Amino acid sequence: MAEVWDTVVVGAGTAGCVLAARLSEDPGRSVLLLEAGGPRLKPWLHIPVGYFKTVGNPATDWMYRTEAEPGLGLARPVALFQTRRATGARPQ
Ligand SMILES: Cc1cc2nc3c(=O)[nH]c(=O)nc-3n(C[C@H](O)[C@H](O)[C@H](O)COP(=O)(O)OP(=O)(O)OC[C@H]3O[C@@H](n4cnc5c(N)ncnc54)[C@H](O)[C@@H]3O)c2cc1C
Repeated sequence: MAEVWDTVVVGAGTAGCVLAARLSEDPGRSVLLLEAGGPRLKPWLHIPVGYFKTVGNPATDWMYRTEAEPGLGLARPVALFQTRRATGARPQ
C-alpha cells in the first residue's frame, strides 16, 4: 500500500534536518525525510579539520559537480561537496 506525504525532503544533512524539523512542527502536515547515507563511521567526519580528509574522497564524498552557471560567476562546473554515507556532513 502506497503512503502519501505532504512534503518529501531529500537529504538528512544540515539543511534537510532543519527544514524537516520546522515543517513537521505543523501537526497537520506529514513530512518524509529521505537519506541515502548511513552511519557516520569515519572519525574524520566528526572534527572540523577532517574536511581535508573527506572532501574529494569518494569514500566520504558523493563527488557531485554543479553545472556551469555563468550568471553566478561559475563559468565551469565546480565540486559540490555532500558527505557520503554520513547522514549529513556534521553532527545534527
Ligand atoms: C569534516 C567536516 C567538518 C566540517 N566542519 C565545519 C565547521 O566546523 N563549521 C561549519 O560551518 N561547517 C563545517 N563543515 C561544512 C558543513 O558541514 C557543510 O557546509 C554543511 O553540512 C552543508 O550542509 P548541506 O545541508 O548543504 O549538505 P549536507 O549536510 O552534506 O547534507 C546533504 C545530505 O544529502 C544526502 N544526499 C545526497 N544525495 C542524496 C540522494 N540522492 N538521496 C538522499 N540523500 C541524499 C547526503 O548523504 C547528505 O546526508 C564541515 C564539513 C565536514 C565534511
